[in-house]
Amino acid sequence: MSLVEGRVCGGCVECCRFIAIDTDGLQKPSNVLCTHCSEGVGCEVYSVRPSVCSGWHCLWRSMPQLSDDWRPDISGIVIRPDDIDRNDVTFTIIDPLKRYLSEGFAQVIGMFAQAGYSVRVQFMGLPGQLPATLDLTSQLKNPVQQRHLNGVLTVLANARDGLSAFSWRSDGLGMRSDLLARSNSVET
Ligand code: SF4
Ligand code: SF4
Repeated sequence: MSLVEGRVCGGCVECCRFIAIDTDGLQKPSNVLCTHCSEGVGCEVYSVRPSVCSGWHCLWRSMPQLSDDWRPDISGIVIRPDDIDRNDVTFTIIDPLKRYLSEGFAQVIGMFAQAGYSVRVQFMGLPGQLPATLDLTSQLKNPVQQRHLNGVLTVLANARDGLSAFSWRSDGLGMRSDLLARSNSVET
């Protein structure tokens, strides 16, 4: 998927925070800023970052239909690219107090649902907890077909409220890295 020309991450570092990473050279828990990321600036080991990082961009970077204010740190929502080729889309809610219960988000969800995508929302837990992922495809079917924005918002509100009964679990990951050692050996 190609990136929108001229669109850059700017001060957003949300994918370096929310994603859990467990790969050769770097382990980090969910919802914890990577030890190599500078808040508001980005990766400080760019040349030796793992392939799991270098190959990843959220869909805001590649969808011109999304305006600038859908940048994840502004909207509070990351649209994940991971399963898009399987006609699945996951909206990771990093801050439910921003645009989660907005008509704009209901319209974005409707756009994907009408295009035939399965729709999941994923809520972040506390640092080090696995996120809660909910498949809303069947619940959204009728309100999306009827273009009933309030119906979509009701489904979203119910999903968020249902989290009070969710059993959060640890992701079992710590913060470990040998990327800096690799970086130093590249420079010498
Ligand atoms: S979440 Fe998207 S905009 Fe934010 S840093 Fe990652 S790729 Fe860039
Ligand atoms: S290695 Fe760099 S790109 Fe990867 S999570 Fe850490 S700061 Fe982000």
